[in-house]
Parts: sequence; C-alpha cells; structure tokens
Amino acid sequence: LTSWHAELAWLDGLRRRVLLECADGRLTSVRAGVEPPAQARRLRGLVLPGLANVHSHAFQRALRGRAQAGGADFWSWRQLMYRLAGSLDPDGLFELARATYLEMLLAGITTVGEFHYLHHGPGGRPYSDRNQTGLALAAAAREAGLRMTLLDACYLRGGLDGRPLEGAQLRFGDYSAAAWAERVDALPEGPAVKVGAAIHSVRAVDEASMSVVAEWAARRQAPLHVHVSEQPAENQDCLAATGLTPSALLERAGALGPRTTAVHATHLAARDIGLLGAARTSVCLCPTTERDLADGVGPAAALAGAGSPLCLGSDSQAVIDLFEEARAVELDQRLVSGRRGHHRPEDLLHAMTAGGAAALGWDAGRLEPGLLADFVAVDLDSVRLAGWQDADLVAQAVYAATAAEVTDVVVGGRQVVAEGRHLSEPNPGALLDAAVRRALSGI
Ligand SMILES: [Zn+2]
Repeated sequence: LTSWHAELAWLDGLRRRVLLECADGRLTSVRAGVEPPAQARRLRGLVLPGLANVHSHAFQRALRGRAQAGGADFWSWRQLMYRLAGSLDPDGLFELARATYLEMLLAGITTVGEFHYLHHGPGGRPYSDRNQTGLALAAAAREAGLRMTLLDACYLRGGLDGRPLEGAQLRFGDYSAAAWAERVDALPEGPAVKVGAAIHSVRAVDEASMSVVAEWAARRQAPLHVHVSEQPAENQDCLAATGLTPSALLERAGALGPRTTAVHATHLAARDIGLLGAARTSVCLCPTTERDLADGVGPAAALAGAGSPLCLGSDSQAVIDLFEEARAVELDQRLVSGRRGHHRPEDLLHAMTAGGAAALGWDAGRLEPGLLADFVAVDLDSVRLAGWQDADLVAQAVYAATAAEVTDVVVGGRQVVAEGRHLSEPNPGALLDAAVRRALSGI
C-alpha cells in the first residue's frame, strides 16, 4: 500500500487534506478532511487526475518551430512532415518518441494516444517484425513511464479519387484492411499499453475498409480514432466522390459510436454535429495544432451540447501543454462568436482528464477508489497562479496554469516525476535535443 496526502485535490469539487491510498496500481481509498499519516508522501498545491493527451504523433516533435514560421498552409506543412516521416528508422523513432513522452510526463500527461501510421520501412518494405515501429513506440512509452493507447492507423490510398499511395506514404500502407487487421492482431498489449484502431481519414480509407476496421474495434472492444474534416478540401472531395460528408460516410460505414473518437471535427455541417452527438462519439480537439496549421475553429460547444464528450490532443507537438489546449477550446470560440462562456472551466478540466482517459479506453481520469492511480500536482505558488482563491481555483488552473506548474506525477501508483524532475531520467532536454537533431539529419 502506498499513500499520498494532498493539500488540495479536485474530486467532485475542491477538497482539502485528501488522503489517496493505492495498491496494485489503483486507488483503494480517497478521503478528504484527513490529517496526513506519517508514511504518506506529501503533495503540495492542487492535485488533479492525470492528464490524457488523446492525439499524438510523437515524431512530429522534431518539426517544432521549424515548420511554423512563414509559409503557406496545411498542405505545404504536410510536405515537410512527409520528408521526416519518410526517413525515420525504428531506432530514431524510438529515441524521438521516448524523449517526447518525457516532455509529456513533465507536463502532467499520464496517458497518451499515439496515432501511428509509420508501419513499414521507407518505400513500404516491411520490417522483419511487421510491427517493429509500433513496438518501438510502446517501448518508448514504457521507458518514459506513461500509459499508452497505440492507435494503429489503417492507411490504404492517396486520396478520395482512389489514387495509390506514393512517396513517403508508401510506408503507411498495408494494401488491404484485412492485412492491416492481421498485422495489428499481432501487436501485444501490456499493463500500461493498449492497442486501438484508427482509420487515418476518409481520404486514406475506402468505405468497405472502414467497416472492416470498425468491426475489428468492435470485436476487441477497443477505441477507434479517425481524423475528421480537418480541412474544407476533405469535405469537398468526399462529397464529390460519395455524395456524403466525412461524418455521414463514417456513420454509414458503422464507424461512429461511444468507443469512437473524431479528431479535429473542425468543418462540420449541422447534420454532422447531430450524427456525432447522437452516436456519443467523442471529439478530440487539438487547438494549438489547428491554429498553427490554419485549420479553423470547430463547433466544440455545439458538439458537446449534441452529446459528444470532448477531449484534447497535442497532435503535431507544436506545444505540449494540455492547459493551453483546454483554455483554447473556450478562447477560440470567443474569437469566432463574439461571445464568452461556451464551456465551464470544470468541463474543460474534464476534457483534460476523464474525457481523454475514456476516449483511450482506460478507467482513469477521476480520483475515485477502483480507478487507476494516475494523478498530478500543480504548483499554486508560481508567479502565474499566485493570488489564487478557493472559489475561483478551477478557473485559475484552466486559464493560468501551464505545463511548467506540474511538480509531481504519479502513474499507476508509481511516482515518476517529483518536484519537477523525472526520477529516472536526469536530463530529458538533452535527450530531446539529440533525438531531434538525429531525426532531422536524415531529411
Ligand atoms: Zn493527427
């Protein structure tokens, strides 16, 4: 039995002097108004459930700041991303992912959803173990010390006109949904690794193959994630090719439902919002990436109102800070609507924690007995939060905290970050620096 004592914790509201007891990686008791027992480790500041980063492409961390200044649009960014994607080998991917996951842990992220499509070698040649890159990502998460749902993406064609994969895309492809399923079936799970499915997008997967992936996820009771309507061009191509919007096509293919997460969902018709909400499909917003790539601002409040749980992702890793993602959901809506008050701070905190954990298939994200013992402490004495008061603390955390306020991180009842330091990796910055330089030397 291990125990932590929090000065302040977010349970069904803010509670003082909270004793969190854990055994076998789970919370066994959570009690407020308790004096700290001698053996309990003290947590100062505000303790929150561990943060869930639902949508990550770890390798894109190498492009931070290199693809952001200047030029053009989503499609020109994708050209640079493809050059990187086309050159990474499994060792380079492992190094880059491990260092990126260390950055995530230091930001309070205890679970990551890794949306993975670099399955094969450059040119599409299979590795001797077909899942070598997926296994490298899982090993990177394990070594860093966070939980992962590996969302292995089916990616079969170059666009809605049916053109084949070419160039860097060749290594994404399995050539058929059946071959994808057979490969993914061979991926092992572990105590902190789950395997989920992904349909890369309606651009990359035809309707019949979408149904195969959805059936695989249903059989495994696994999460199913899909990029949806990030760009208007995807909607136009989808309407031209099928007569349906991407959301309606996914619905007809049987790919929507409560285990499904639509990533971005930026450019939706009113009917799409109804379809996603009625199916209780989660929506993962990635506002720092969406603003970086000039995608637009999605109808987050309308989706939540229609029944879609919201969650958040760092996606392109332009920034790894879920506090920034959470407040952006509200603040971006204010800019496009001319009004405030679309999302309560408690709902944004839910998106960072329980909403994200559910979308990734983990029973975590709330401080309750029986759930996974994943939690983080946020420093309330920092210059950004000094002056806080009980009545406004949730709003102050959502609107003013940053990744830098996270001091302590516990994953599965094991402390991995204490006082802002990773306990087994003394210098994550140096690892990241080396991994990024190695990755970029190949492009
Ligand atoms: Zn993505």
